[in-house]
Amino acid sequence: MEDVAKKPKAVKGVRAERVKREAFGIEGRRKHEGRTATPLRSHAKETGTQHRVYRFRFYPTGAQAEQLGRTFGACRWVYNEGLALRSEAWEQHRVRVGFAETCRALTGWKRTGERAWLKEVSATVLQQALRHLDQAFTRFFSGAAKYPQRRRKQRSRDAVTYVRTGFRWVEDPVRPGTGLITLAKQSGPLDVRWSRALPAGAVPVRLSVTRDRAGRYFVSVLVEERVRVLPALFLPGSREPKAVGLDLGLASLVTLDDGTKLDHPRLLKRYAEKLARLQRELHRKVKGSGNRDRARQRIARLYALIGDVRKDMLDQFTTRLVRENQVLVVEDLSIVTLLRPARGRGRRRKAALSRAIIDAGWGELLRQLRYKCGWYGRTLVVVDRFFPSTRRCSACHAKGPRLDVSVREWTCAECGVVHDRDVNAAVNLRDEGMRLYWLVASALPPGSRAPVVIKASELERCLPAA
Ligand SMILES: [Zn+2]
Repeated sequence: MEDVAKKPKAVKGVRAERVKREAFGIEGRRKHEGRTATPLRSHAKETGTQHRVYRFRFYPTGAQAEQLGRTFGACRWVYNEGLALRSEAWEQHRVRVGFAETCRALTGWKRTGERAWLKEVSATVLQQALRHLDQAFTRFFSGAAKYPQRRRKQRSRDAVTYVRTGFRWVEDPVRPGTGLITLAKQSGPLDVRWSRALPAGAVPVRLSVTRDRAGRYFVSVLVEERVRVLPALFLPGSREPKAVGLDLGLASLVTLDDGTKLDHPRLLKRYAEKLARLQRELHRKVKGSGNRDRARQRIARLYALIGDVRKDMLDQFTTRLVRENQVLVVEDLSIVTLLRPARGRGRRRKAALSRAIIDAGWGELLRQLRYKCGWYGRTLVVVDRFFPSTRRCSACHAKGPRLDVSVREWTCAECGVVHDRDVNAAVNLRDEGMRLYWLVASALPPGSRAPVVIKASELERCLPAA
């Protein structure tokens, strides 16, 4: 409460406008009224379509790589400058500077002689950097993220966004779904490796160009695509939707309530060991040396490889799950974090790394389930983190004792059923998920579709107001 009382009030109106003009050189709105603004708002979807991102590797020419390098640098600079401007305006003058004003400030920066190099980079791309900054602030204000951080050359991934006016797209008439992408301020098209075709006739809405720390270039193409919603799946002869419970774990990545287990790929475990070795090597190298740079590159390449392997594996798995089930039930990811033993000081780096890899696997799994449920008209139910999925007996619902992580099998003291720890948890999750599902579904007007995500912790929001 004290904090709220101390919170300073924002300066507004004419006084704020004067501060912006005099201290930061942000010109008044009037001067810009005649200009036509580049559409920056996130692209509104047509009904019945989904946004889908396709990622391709490309190999820039020397000139393109150089121009992209300048673009990455300029975007980072603009982002940091915008951040400094917004922070300073607030800290020194209690003036709030928003997205539009940072855009106007950008016009001013470009006019000064020493910043003329900003003109070599597409204006819409720079504005997108400010848009990203604005989104970072929005997340901060909503409490979802920390205060935006400066972007550093070494730490941050290089990524820039091109909106529709920032690139040219010509579809190849012979191979539909592929074509030529030419970026603003570049003379020739990119050499894109079309590992798969975009849906024929699809027009890219937005591009994001990235360079990972292994030095590979990718273009992510956002297209609008008509995804056919799959027919709803019910259990034979009933109105009960076909449901599956997923238990995420350390022994297996996922256990389904029918006993199917998806293991952590052994490959990733081996990579974790290699990664640990490379990390040790890196720490032995002299800071700032070429050797250290090369070691860092090797680590970055390995991380990239791990990410690709995991994504591919999960892609197939989640597609099958979403196709074969109408309702998918998972536990809130934070419970999984709670279950894990704390990271002690004595823990070795290797263990910490394999943990990190497993964590990322869970995150990716949930991300894929969420968007695929959206595409195909399925429902993902996220059960509350305090639901005792492991301790409850799925046969008689008696609550058993707390189980150590090493216990794989247990016998219910009430009814004598022998449980596999993870399968029992998955069955409990499915049952609890279906309870929540019906809570929401029965309150919906007849004929309407259940929401894509039902989250136990936000159940009030899913239920229509009584
Ligand atoms: Zn029991």
